[in-house]
Amino acid sequence: MTALPSFVSPAIESSGARFSSPESGAPFSVLVVEDQAVMRAALVTELHQAGVTQVLEAENGRSALALFRSERPDLVLLDIRLPGEDGYWVARQLREAEPGEWTPIIFLSGLDNDLDVWRGIEAGGDDYLVKPVKPIVLVAKLRAMRRLLDMRRRLVTVSAELHLANQKLNEMVELDALTGLVNRRGLDRMLHAEISAARREGKPLTLMLCDLDHFKRFNDTYGHIQGDECLRQVGRLLREVCVRPRDIAARYGGEAFALVLPNTPRSGSMTFARALGQMLKLLKIRPAGSDEEILLTLWRHHHLHPR
Ligand SMILES: [Mg+2]
Repeated sequence: MTALPSFVSPAIESSGARFSSPESGAPFSVLVVEDQAVMRAALVTELHQAGVTQVLEAENGRSALALFRSERPDLVLLDIRLPGEDGYWVARQLREAEPGEWTPIIFLSGLDNDLDVWRGIEAGGDDYLVKPVKPIVLVAKLRAMRRLLDMRRRLVTVSAELHLANQKLNEMVELDALTGLVNRRGLDRMLHAEISAARREGKPLTLMLCDLDHFKRFNDTYGHIQGDECLRQVGRLLREVCVRPRDIAARYGGEAFALVLPNTPRSGSMTFARALGQMLKLLKIRPAGSDEEILLTLWRHHHLHPR
């Protein structure tokens, strides 16, 4: 090993402090921004010894920014005094380059200057190290920052999961468990939204209400299990015919169903209703061992024609 430059702490080889256990395996990359080649090399060596998987190097602000954008390191060690744009400028650029994200920035200050520290934190830095950098302090700060980074990532993951769970819950609240169609609550909300949209866009809107003939007798004769199966089959058919993204098939309640068809004029909806009747006939929904067919009756047809 070559002799260490005098401005790097002599403890560099003896610290032995590791930033992460080798078996933890999670990769971690650090961008070192430092114009003095010897100082940079010493930092790179220490980072490798501490267990950092990837070390990127930049000797000025512009190339630091380019590397940050292309490589997205997990942490940045940033010298304040740089040729050209200084470290404060770089810190501000880094923060702007990652809206909504957070990469820890540790400033490297030449002297223990309180104003440097103040300006560094002000510019978006998270912590600072005084040169010559003591390896054990460097590793301790890396560990602290990594802990914060891990916590933040867990928080982001949990928030995203929570958001998804909420969305799922909202959907479930508006679904009919038996048929999988939108339930009455969902229908009320979506219908209101579609009425407003139709008025706003000046487009026609069709609401069709229908129910199954003699369903009560069907249930009484063949039992509720057969009745439920019949409702499920009709539900499946209604879902299949509502092919456009904004079409809504809903279970209105009991054996009554509702279809909301945005941007559908009266003529179109009449054709649609006839086709639906035909399809239901072809489906021949009937209880096992019976000839009795069940028919869908359209009992109300509403049209909204703005303008
Ligand atoms: Mg410098």
